Amino acid sequence: MFKFAFCFFSAFSMASPALLMRVVASAYSVAEKAATIVRNVMSAGDLGIVEKAGPSDLQTKADRLVQMSICASLARKFPKVTIIGEEELPNDDVSEDLIEDGHCEEILKKPCPAQYTGIKEEELVIWVDPLDGTKEYTEGLLDHVTVLIGIAYGGKAIAGVINQPYYNYEAGANAVLGRTIWGVLGMGAFGFQLTEAPAGKHIVVTTRSHSSALVNECITALNPDHVIRVGGAGNKIIQLIEGKASAYVFASPGCKKWDTCAPEAILHAVGGKITDIRGNSFQYNKEVKHMNSAGVLATLRNYDYYASRIPNTVKESLVP
Ligand code: AMP
Ligand code: MG
Ligand code: MG
Repeated sequence: MFKFAFCFFSAFSMASPALLMRVVASAYSVAEKAATIVRNVMSAGDLGIVEKAGPSDLQTKADRLVQMSICASLARKFPKVTIIGEEELPNDDVSEDLIEDGHCEEILKKPCPAQYTGIKEEELVIWVDPLDGTKEYTEGLLDHVTVLIGIAYGGKAIAGVINQPYYNYEAGANAVLGRTIWGVLGMGAFGFQLTEAPAGKHIVVTTRSHSSALVNECITALNPDHVIRVGGAGNKIIQLIEGKASAYVFASPGCKKWDTCAPEAILHAVGGKITDIRGNSFQYNKEVKHMNSAGVLATLRNYDYYASRIPNTVKESLVP
């Protein structure tokens, strides 16, 4: 009898993927639906722009619809997971055409890293940035835009999905538009070609629409060979993992946990490192303060090179 029960249990556990893999597989499809909404709102032409804290802090119809779509779709499948989205929206019923109930089969087939197989729904926190790079979206810099779904457990970013709805948009009419990058700590990251930045060159990527004297002072102190100014936290992590930049440096408050959770999981899954400007790691438990008050420092390689060159005066100006 015991033997029978054991066999039954192992057969059952083989047939049923771990919760984490089911969440990532669903987040993948939910992010693809989100990308379709981002493109549809733009092509319909009415962005419905609302200023939040000021003219550099915008929300569009795409931010609103995508957040409703992602949060309602994931909450329906995983009702006990905590989901925190960037936008403050009324608690209205979400229309059925915004719900995505699919998942990525390929992700479900992959084995869950052993340390995450026992995770329960109530232990996960999902951080959602429905549209990262909104300012750039409104200005037509479409490849800066990403959709970010970060998954945290025990306060750590352990998995993430980044969809880039306009990937390839300058490659001509026949190019496939959009891509989805995903990763899990202990497993790796997929959907792109991991590329090292040019050896011996210091290429810093930073904000284009949220600069300040301190942001620039910090970059000058690093004496980089080149500075790339682009929108979006998701986009800047993509620049690191595709070898376009060697460090993401942002000496300013402004980035929030939904900006860094998915990028952090993907960067860490391929051996990179992200912290605040003072070297503290980010926490993603549900009670945490949303603002990353002490900025962002991220690299794929050579983290210590950049960390050791951040001036103390800059560190002291940013309080976590
Ligand atoms: P950026 O690199 O400027 O695109 O910023 C990355 C993310 O942080 C985006 O989601 C921005 O909206 C957010 N962010 C950075 N600085 C600020 C700020 N001063 N006010 C509002 N949001 C900000
Ligand atoms: Mg954002
Ligand atoms: Mg956003």
